[in-house]
Amino acid sequence: MDYLTDEQVETLKQIMRDQQDRLVRAARNTMTEQYDNRDVVPADTIDLSSDESLQVTEHRLRDREKFLIAKIDKALKRMEAGTYGYCKECDDEIGFPRLKARPVAELCIDCKEEQEQFEKGTAKRRMQGDSVFP
Ligand SMILES: [Zn+2]
Repeated sequence: MDYLTDEQVETLKQIMRDQQDRLVRAARNTMTEQYDNRDVVPADTIDLSSDESLQVTEHRLRDREKFLIAKIDKALKRMEAGTYGYCKECDDEIGFPRLKARPVAELCIDCKEEQEQFEKGTAKRRMQGDSVFP
């Protein structure tokens, strides 16, 4: 990650640590707090009339938080190893502006767009009932 200055690396590290702090705090939130903060939950995954589905949503949130915390951990490790900031697919520099917006990014913008196109195509085929994974 020679293309990043020490200062840029510090900035990214700081962003990731802040995010991690927030996620850890959010994961410790009580259900009441999550209830109040329900705008973070996609409306269609939550049925407020059912305690059971609230619990399921809470589990899903925690899973997501754990996943993101682990992802940040991995990014920080890549930073230590000096492999941070390069695209997983094409080894291109991901670039500081993109990393600043999304420090855990593992793909450059070109590969990311390609992947999204692919995922969109896959979702479409699935909706049409034509499974790509038999
Ligand atoms: Zn790439």
